[in-house]
Amino acid sequence: MQLDELLEEQNFTEYKPFDVTLIRIDPAVRKMCEANACGSYGRNHMCPPSVDGIDKWRDVIMGFDHAMMVSKVYTMESKYDMKAMFEGAKDFEVSLRKARESIEEENPGVNMMILGAGPCMYCKKCSNLDDLPCIHPDKAYPSVEACGIDVMSLSKVTGVKYNNGENTVTYLGLVLYSSSSFSPSTTGLKPL
Ligand code: SF4
Repeated sequence: MQLDELLEEQNFTEYKPFDVTLIRIDPAVRKMCEANACGSYGRNHMCPPSVDGIDKWRDVIMGFDHAMMVSKVYTMESKYDMKAMFEGAKDFEVSLRKARESIEEENPGVNMMILGAGPCMYCKKCSNLDDLPCIHPDKAYPSVEACGIDVMSLSKVTGVKYNNGENTVTYLGLVLYSSSSFSPSTTGLKPL
């Protein structure tokens, strides 16, 4: 199955391949996490200050040669509909994880990584709160922002829509991969 078909299974609204060299990693983005607008700063292993620093992420990210920006749009009753926002974030996280699992299943040994939107929500309560190591490091993955990537700017570069209209929330994530670890017929995608 082609990579785009595996992503389609998870009903992503958009997915666009691009070259990882288009990714800009900016300490100012990571710094914004400290404002703790999402309430997860210091409360999740995949968020600052627990998650690795951006220099480490720069090395990891630039170790891939291709990336795919994926998005999913969720409708809300109003812009204050926190329930829809939370449920959308959770669904997006599960979709990305399932996409990774199906890509890995179809392409054993594939070199890939996913970056999501917001904190890791795999466990009901992150063990970070009890000062214990991550319980499922194989399931956890950081957000785009935690790695210092300005997702709004990158969405303009890739052409994936960040704003999909009134009373909607759009979540964006990245699938990073080494094309050499797929057979050419599997990706079938031309990066920007
Ligand atoms: S897998 Fe669980 S313990 Fe690990 S970062 Fe995610 S929520 Fe926290």
